[in-house]
Amino acid sequence: MKFPSPSSADAVVSISGLSRHFGTKAALDDVSLFVARGSVLGLVGENGAGKTTLIKHLLGMFKAQVGTVRVFGLDPVLDPVGVLSGVGYLSERRDLPGWMRVDEFMRYTQAFYPGWDEAYAGSLLKQFQLDPAQKIKTLSQGQQAKIGLLTSVAYRPALLILDEPSSGLDPVVRRDILEVVIRMVAEEGRTVIFSSHLLDEVERVADHVVMLQKGRVVLNGRTEAVRGDHISALLSFEEPPAQMPALVGAHAVAGYGSEWRVLYAGSRLELAAAAAQIGACVIEERTPTLDEILVARAGGKSS
Ligand code: ATP
Repeated sequence: MKFPSPSSADAVVSISGLSRHFGTKAALDDVSLFVARGSVLGLVGENGAGKTTLIKHLLGMFKAQVGTVRVFGLDPVLDPVGVLSGVGYLSERRDLPGWMRVDEFMRYTQAFYPGWDEAYAGSLLKQFQLDPAQKIKTLSQGQQAKIGLLTSVAYRPALLILDEPSSGLDPVVRRDILEVVIRMVAEEGRTVIFSSHLLDEVERVADHVVMLQKGRVVLNGRTEAVRGDHISALLSFEEPPAQMPALVGAHAVAGYGSEWRVLYAGSRLELAAAAAQIGACVIEERTPTLDEILVARAGGKSS
């Protein structure tokens, strides 16, 4: 499948033909992807789809077995300092030193980054209502996520990478930290890549979405365009089929008797024509959510 891509001059991240195997298992399979400056990219996919493996290549933690990876035009394995000095990273596990106090951890992180913006760090500390004197191990999960995020953005990295930043967080903390920070970073012309299982969150925050499935890129585009390229349709059959007949471009979602819901990739006209060919008519259609698209693609059978 060919996907549109920005010119490589705009690309903060440029990945071409990247494959990665663990033993015989393909964690990434011929992945090509460009991330333009100033965009917020949501990386989605089921457990084990390859999101973390992809992120680890961006950070130089994995060397490309096949293909190329460039961040700011640099190879993260050959030039880790050039890449990592411009990257803010928050891992899924948020490995924070529990024995440090919040202010000690901030000073410690600051020492690594000449670009640390003290005023900005201070304003985030206030906004997140964190107590500088508190030990990290006594912070709640949400507070730990906030301090992790604070130290990932306070040196104003050109690229912010967040691996499942919301995992284990309640909706209020998620809204506080994620939307505010991601938007703020992107508004400054900086670039954000974040992986998430929470598709409604990706839909709200990301302007681009890349969906991985078994290591392959199955969707890549502007969030609204990805949704707009799909139709959630209810088909009605005159003769109830025992199972949903093959319908090219459709992923069967659910159904029984004479009514079946499908997720169709294509235009309304194409759907009507394809449905007529299998003896059905479309009785309801709407734009699906990203979640519906992911679930249908992951679980449904495409004909
Ligand atoms: P999750 O959402 O569960 O974090 P993911 O999309 O981030 O999943 P990855 O962690 O990238 O997926 O894993 C992709 C595949 O590669 C999985 O099948 C995983 O078991 C495998 N894998 C990842 N890292 C290793 C490793 N170090 N050794 C062996 N297999 C690995």
